[in-house]
Amino acid sequence: MTTVLIILAVLIVLILVSLKFAVGKKEPRYTDDSGERAPIIHMSGIYSIVRKSPREDLAALRPVEAEIRAYLDRVTADINGVPIEAAARTALIKHWKVQTEANLREIETGDRSGVVFYYYDFPAPCPVCSGVITKGNFVTREEIFKNPQIIPPLHLGCTCSLTAHQGSESKLRETVLVGMLPFLEGGVEPELPEWTTVVSLSAPAKARG
Ligand SMILES: [Zn+2]
Repeated sequence: MTTVLIILAVLIVLILVSLKFAVGKKEPRYTDDSGERAPIIHMSGIYSIVRKSPREDLAALRPVEAEIRAYLDRVTADINGVPIEAAARTALIKHWKVQTEANLREIETGDRSGVVFYYYDFPAPCPVCSGVITKGNFVTREEIFKNPQIIPPLHLGCTCSLTAHQGSESKLRETVLVGMLPFLEGGVEPELPEWTTVVSLSAPAKARG
């Protein structure tokens, strides 16, 4: 009888211990907005910080819409002398917001799949950025984290965009051979255009450089 009681007591203790473990085990904490399980890289080392969306940091560096509007109200022509009227002002503000959002989304989406490299692209030439950025210049996610100001658009009417580079570092090194070069050489940031530099969106392609 005593043996049975001891066995029962041991069993009860074992059940209680396993219950405690089952209750203590929580769902993985590292999930993003969409509920997807975030890549391992988020959880380790510098990438847990690096892969925080640059949205807030960028907003802190960029003018708010009212400031842009107030500035544009005083601008009568762009850098090429193309007249800026009410419709052009509205278009420039909309373009600025849409492009900012598109580039932030590209980075946020890239973070979900662990993208490390991004490169600059010009769907249309930008006469202001042409002296600063070359199509195919690349930056690392860590550089974006440290310098959110390098996220385009860099000025009003800027056509520059950041595109995720889907591939490994070794693949990128191969691409370098065909013209992709680091944007921040030795971590030094080139002088970026002032946001106040205006290129009209309605300017003919030739005038846009
Ligand atoms: Zn530009």
